[in-house]
Formats: sequence, C-alpha cells, structure tokens
Amino acid sequence: MKANVLRGITRLEENEAPLSLLDLPEPVPNEGEILLKVSACGVCHTELDEIEGRTPPPRFPIILGHQVIGRVAALGRGASRFSIGERVGVGWIFSACRRCKFCLSGRENLCNEFKATGRDFDGGYAQYMTVPEGFAYTIPDVYTDSQAAPLLCAGAIGYRSLRLTGLQDGQKLGLTGFGASAHLVLKMVRYRYPNVQTFVFARSNEERNFARELGAVWAGDTTEESPVRLDCIIDTTPVWTPIVEAMRNLEPGGRLVINAIRKEDIDKDSLLGLDYPIHLWMEKEIKSVANVSRTDVSEFLALASEMGITPEVQEYPLSGANQALLELKKRKIRGAKVLTIG
Ligand SMILES: [Zn+2]
Ligand SMILES: [Zn+2]
Repeated sequence: MKANVLRGITRLEENEAPLSLLDLPEPVPNEGEILLKVSACGVCHTELDEIEGRTPPPRFPIILGHQVIGRVAALGRGASRFSIGERVGVGWIFSACRRCKFCLSGRENLCNEFKATGRDFDGGYAQYMTVPEGFAYTIPDVYTDSQAAPLLCAGAIGYRSLRLTGLQDGQKLGLTGFGASAHLVLKMVRYRYPNVQTFVFARSNEERNFARELGAVWAGDTTEESPVRLDCIIDTTPVWTPIVEAMRNLEPGGRLVINAIRKEDIDKDSLLGLDYPIHLWMEKEIKSVANVSRTDVSEFLALASEMGITPEVQEYPLSGANQALLELKKRKIRGAKVLTIG
C-alpha cells in the first residue's frame, strides 16, 4: 500500500517535505481489530506538533493522521461490531485501558494509557490502517468521506471545548484562532445557542472575513480588544500571546478554554506580560482540553448530522500531504484540509 511516513522529528522551516510516500505492506488486523481501506484523512495541527517533536511519536517510522474515513476491508479474530464494506471513522483516541478511574467514569481522554491514532499507532495517511473495533464510529450517511473526516477531530474536540466553556444561551463567546475546529464551533453555536454573540480573533484578514461570513458579530486581530467583555473564550492558536490577550477580554468569572495539545515556544515570553489585576483577578479561569473521548466523537457526529453542519474542506491527494502541512504551518487556512485517498 501507499503510505506517507514520518521517519523522525524535524522542523518544517528547514525541511518542507517531512513525510515520504512509500510502498509498505498492508497491515493485518489483530484480535478485536478491523482493517480499513482509507478513503479520506483530515490534516490536523497536531500533526505539526508530532513532526516538530512537541508531542513526539514513541517510534519511527510512523504513519500520521487521526481523522480517518474508510471502509471495513477485513475483520480480526473476534471482531464482530462492523461488517465488511461498512463505512466507519477513526479519531484521535485509538485506545485506552478501560479499567482506570478515568476510563470507568467516562474520562478515558485522561487515561494514563491513552493511545493516539497516528502517533502511538499508525494512522490514516495511507491506503490501509487497523484499529480496535470499539474505537471506530459509524458515519452519518449525509456526509461525503471528505466532509466527514474533519468532524472526527476538529469537530469533536471543538464540541468538547465548547462543552468545557459552560456557555449558556444569551452569553458572549470569543474564539481566538479560526481554523478547522473554531469554524465548526461557530456553526454549532449558531444552531444550539441562537442568542449567543460570537467574537472572533484571527491573524489574517481572510480568516476574519470567513468568520463574519459564518455569522461572527465581530472579528478582529488576535491582539485587538473586543468591543465588550466575553463570558468565555476558546483558544485554538498554537502560541501564547492570544492567551494573555484573551484573559484581558474576559468578563469577571469568565473562563478561557485552551484547545491545543501543545504550544509553540516562539512567543512564550509574552506570558511575562500577565498582569494579575487585568488578566487574572476577578475569578477568571483557565482550563485546557485534553484529547477526546469516544462519547465526544459519537455525540458530535449525531449533533452535526442533526444540525446539518457541513465542514468547509480543501482537498489534497495523498501525495500532497507535505504541501497541506506546510500551508497549515503558514496558517493558510480556510476550513479544514483533507487528504483524499484512492
Ligand atoms: Zn486533530
Ligand atoms: Zn484508563
């Protein structure tokens, strides 16, 4: 099979083609696993964190990709949940221990043995992949393969982030960063909370216009002050300055939810600008979002199809993975990037 493989940690500034397209043997499903013939795989900022070593894969070579749509091509021993030919999806959660206090209380995203698709195990930047059947999802019929892929991470983690904000209808929400996840959050908010006003902070004019098109009441630069104080803000940027700026824009008692697996160090010194009375006092909170649980993914898939949310996607062939990643690094973003795999 054709697979796009990462052979080691590297920096995109110095190496614009971190992945190599190779011919590899098709994987064989182990007990309880299914083999998928992959048709689409979303491209996520987390792949940049893996390539650049902020959340490094434990072994190389590794096949990245954790927003995978495919059809069941073979069943491992004992696997009976899906039938051959059925369309399923795989997200960031590849497996968890299923025994610890986190797993037993619906918080498997916090499990000590949490394993990630496309980091700890091979993912979907390839023609085939295997996954434990309990960690695959039926995909609503209304979506094409490319449309469904970004729902599995960008959408699901956006859903989790929104849940963690505690947002209520009538409140004011901020989104700092406006990529794949944030644009789906805005669509969700417009449906679920019709009286919420959303304020978007984004670096590029293109992203700001896109946010307005999708219904943001205001869009400004990451460092701009919002016209009103906000009840909660979701940060999806890879850096620190937006965190400091966001804290200033919060209402007393407001909450900032950071949706990022890792932050880049380039502007870490901006944290020294934190001024306690301006940024933190008055019971302002900061909460991070870690991974996703299976419940997040399945609930979000159901909600998305009920709402008729359709992600805006940009398609690339499997051989275009390096280009898609580079554009993501350079923040050339409109919606979600997806590899289509034949
Ligand atoms: Zn992701
Ligand atoms: Zn566990």
